[in-house]
Amino acid sequence: MKSQSAEKKYLPDMPQKEVEELNASVKAASERIMADNIERMKKTDPNRPAAMQYFDEVSNFFGMRQKEIQEAKAQGRKVIGYLCVFAPIELILAADAIPVRVNSGWYDTSKLGDRIVPVEVCPVIRSTIGAKMIDLSPYLELSDAVISTLTCDGQTKLSEILSDAKQMWIMTPPRVKDSAQSLHLWKEEIKAIKTQIEKLTGNKITPKKLKEAIETMQKATKAFRRLQDLRKGNPVIMGRDAMLVNQMSMWDDIKRWTKKTEALCDELEKRAEKNEWACPPDTPRVIVTGTPMFWPDNWKLPTLIEEATPQGILVGDELCSSDRVLYDPVGIDEWTMDDMINGIAERYLMASTCPCFTSKDGNEDRVNWLLNKVKDTKAQGVIYYVIRGCMLYAMEYSRVKKALDKVDIPVYYLDTEYTREDVGQMKTRVEAFLEMLSARVDF
Ligand code: SF4
Repeated sequence: MKSQSAEKKYLPDMPQKEVEELNASVKAASERIMADNIERMKKTDPNRPAAMQYFDEVSNFFGMRQKEIQEAKAQGRKVIGYLCVFAPIELILAADAIPVRVNSGWYDTSKLGDRIVPVEVCPVIRSTIGAKMIDLSPYLELSDAVISTLTCDGQTKLSEILSDAKQMWIMTPPRVKDSAQSLHLWKEEIKAIKTQIEKLTGNKITPKKLKEAIETMQKATKAFRRLQDLRKGNPVIMGRDAMLVNQMSMWDDIKRWTKKTEALCDELEKRAEKNEWACPPDTPRVIVTGTPMFWPDNWKLPTLIEEATPQGILVGDELCSSDRVLYDPVGIDEWTMDDMINGIAERYLMASTCPCFTSKDGNEDRVNWLLNKVKDTKAQGVIYYVIRGCMLYAMEYSRVKKALDKVDIPVYYLDTEYTREDVGQMKTRVEAFLEMLSARVDF
């Protein structure tokens, strides 16, 4: 475990004026992009569910949620950021701290990150470094500590770089799930992080508190699954809207998010009963897998799919920034402390479909999850999305393609950068893929 040190190893000492000016200009651009994304989502579905209004509000990084967290901090609550879905949220909640995901989805800050690491490095990493350099991310700034899981080389070095500015807690997941010692090692990591959380917050994680936190997350998972299940039928909600709801679970108050998601599902069920669809039912159904996509700038691909000619609809994904976030509940046999820690360890390790794992069967959990998702959502095609520099997802492509070829599902490899400059070129590629899917449907 690493703590903040006085001498900066990586981050430059930028003049305060430069930090403030860059912060103001990137923030202003980001506010425009967030508003524009929402407007475009409204335009795509003019009869957009009324319940989406709440999620639109939470999606403003510089809005009500930031203010709420600031107020909670002023009352003495701690904020714990995390860079990966391996972070055990139940333990954070059980210590009455606030969990927030802090990976950056800002394109502009990736250019700032280039001052510290080469352009070949994953843009999510460069962008997160850049966001820290100009204090842009409200949630990263408000974090008292950040949990970083060493899933790839980028995350590994990012933890070291951010330790110049933040208290970083490192977790090392085993790269093999099915060895005799893996779960044992991971359980030790879970116990170690529990101790860190208790120390930071000054709150003991009691069995009662942990049970409450697990139950809170189980309810959130139930609402989350209900939404994903609704997407399996005719298109009752556009994929971008569902993706926004999914992502907001990582920043919002989880109890309130659960209630609002249930309300959204109630509204969607009523619409389905009346055959009110977000787009024509024969719109080509697409799934996206690969590198995580973070709000707000990295809304590029979902936007292209759903605004394309011919139009497509995103009916699901296999992204650790969306459909994978809350899908799996912690399973408990007996509510003892040991059983709860076991349940948490199992849920965060065994249910993960991260490409950081290797096995003789070729990370079959990810492949199986994706195949099931294709079947459940009746997806007609898969876009395999990779940002340049993301080796793990890039390297697993041929494995995934072979599995999809076997079930006759077309898959398209789409590589891109953290930039808006290639939108035109991507549009042509996405539309050609959707055209091909439409032709298969017509045939
Ligand atoms: S897994 Fe890929 S996208 Fe995620 S941090 Fe590592 S390199 Fe970047």
